[in-house]
Amino acid sequence: MAAIEKVCEMCGDYHGHAMYRYKYNHLQMCPKHRKDFRYKEAVLYLSTLEDNKFDYCLVVNDMTVQGNVNGQYFNTACTVNYSSVIRKMRRLLRCRKLNIVKTNIFCWHMCGQTLEAYINGK
Ligand SMILES: [Zn+2]
Repeated sequence: MAAIEKVCEMCGDYHGHAMYRYKYNHLQMCPKHRKDFRYKEAVLYLSTLEDNKFDYCLVVNDMTVQGNVNGQYFNTACTVNYSSVIRKMRRLLRCRKLNIVKTNIFCWHMCGQTLEAYINGK
């Protein structure tokens, strides 16, 4: 499992420990892909856990940035810095206002469903 966390979700390159730095409050991918996300429509799903920690998933519908994860970029590192994530996502997407959906999902495994289908089916 540890190896999967070090692989770029866009191109599949293996980055080892450098990925932790790339991924921190961001998405799991090499920095070179970030420009591809500019002006793309996306929704940031947040799931608040205990102790002010949260997981998040950026869902991008644009076909050019689906990566190897069907456009669903999860980060389940129990992040604490909420505002840093929002700031980084806004910068990534070059958007003034980020679409944010708050959820209470504690487990992000959705048995093959997309996140949107999972949430709408509840
Ligand atoms: Zn990559």
